Amino acid sequence: MRRKLVAGNWKMHGGLARNRDLLQSLVQEAGKGGGSDCAVCVPFPYLAQAQEQLKDTAIAWGGQTLSEHAQGAYTGEVSAAMLVDFGCRYVIVGHSERRSLYGENNETVAAKFVAAVQGGLQPILCLGETLDQREDNVTEQVIAAQLDAVLQAADISGFANAVIAYEPVWAIGTGRTATPQQAQEVHAFIRQRMAGSDAALAQRLQILYGGSVKPQNAAELFGMADIDGGLIGGASLVAQDFLAICRAAG
Ligand code: PEP
Repeated sequence: MRRKLVAGNWKMHGGLARNRDLLQSLVQEAGKGGGSDCAVCVPFPYLAQAQEQLKDTAIAWGGQTLSEHAQGAYTGEVSAAMLVDFGCRYVIVGHSERRSLYGENNETVAAKFVAAVQGGLQPILCLGETLDQREDNVTEQVIAAQLDAVLQAADISGFANAVIAYEPVWAIGTGRTATPQQAQEVHAFIRQRMAGSDAALAQRLQILYGGSVKPQNAAELFGMADIDGGLIGGASLVAQDFLAICRAAG
């Protein structure tokens, strides 16, 4: 039985006062069920705040991206070691907004994944197709290419502590959720492809669903055989919604 994980992606939202309230609400309520893991991925400037408020609690925290380089003249970039300095356990890698807005391609994403693993972080690797790609019936090819680039760079051993998030681009921040069956199909495809390299690892691998998860649809999605929790954008900014989604994970 795989343990479920619900990870919030705050994106570029928040502020000191608002975060304080949100984190306080999460700390008071989260972890009471104990049946799933919970994490928040916050903007870089608030990592110290997350560390301060979440240390010694059941909630982990992480970054939303990282540099593929370990250190050097890379103005504006943040390395894996810097995230580890602030107690991060997770880092999101290859979010579709990074791919579409910041030019990250499969190779860049793979290099970032390797940097995360080498730095001791658990990458949450995002994979997903656009609406055009789904309508052209190339979803599996797109996912396979995204996944294979990382497998090639990191080897299957690089996935020992990694998490995958299937995030159909057309469902992110749109209010349009993949049906549980649509999501399950792609999750099963990802697990099967991973099993081609290591069947035992594929069975252990947490594969999250992301894309307009809400308290109203979380339980049904998380009830599917290969869906092991969620990566949550908008709803992670509202304490009661995020907590309800965490409870839906068990
Ligand atoms: C995300 O940002 O990864 C995401 C899934 O966003 P939302 O839940 O708002 O669709």
